[in-house]
Amino acid sequence: MADTISRERRSYNMSRIRGKDTEPELVLRKFVFSLGHRYRLHGKNLPGKPDIIFPSKKKAIFMHGCFWHQHENCSVSHQPKSNLDYWMPKLKRTIERDKEHIKALKKLGWKTLVIWECEVETLQKMEGRILRFLGPSKNT
Ligand SMILES: [Zn+2]
Repeated sequence: MADTISRERRSYNMSRIRGKDTEPELVLRKFVFSLGHRYRLHGKNLPGKPDIIFPSKKKAIFMHGCFWHQHENCSVSHQPKSNLDYWMPKLKRTIERDKEHIKALKKLGWKTLVIWECEVETLQKMEGRILRFLGPSKNT
C-alpha cells in the first residue's frame, strides 16, 4: 500500500530530523542510568556504533527500529508491500550489516544486546532483558 510506505518514509525523515536522541532511546538510556551502571553513548570506534556501551564490561546495546531492522514476528514492523525493488535490497543490507557488526564486536570480545523499539513500549520485558544482560542494579 502506497500509503503505508509514505508513512514509513515520513517517520524515517522525522527521526532523522530529530537526530540521534529519538524517544525510545531516551527511555532506554534513562532505565540504564537508573541501574547505576556506567555507560557511554554511541561507541563511535566500535563496529556498528552501538547506542549504549559499557566499556568496563565490554558490553554494548543496540536500539533497533522495528521497520528498519525488520524485527521478526513484530506487530509494529511489517514488510513493505510496494516499491519492493527499492525496499527489499535496502532492508536486506541493513540486516546483513547488523549481523556483521555483532560478529565483529564478538571478535573484539564484546557482548551485545539488541533492544527493539517496540520493546520499549512493553517496559517490563525490556527491563528484564537488560537486567539479565548487565546484572543487577548497583543502586540496590
Ligand atoms: Zn518490534
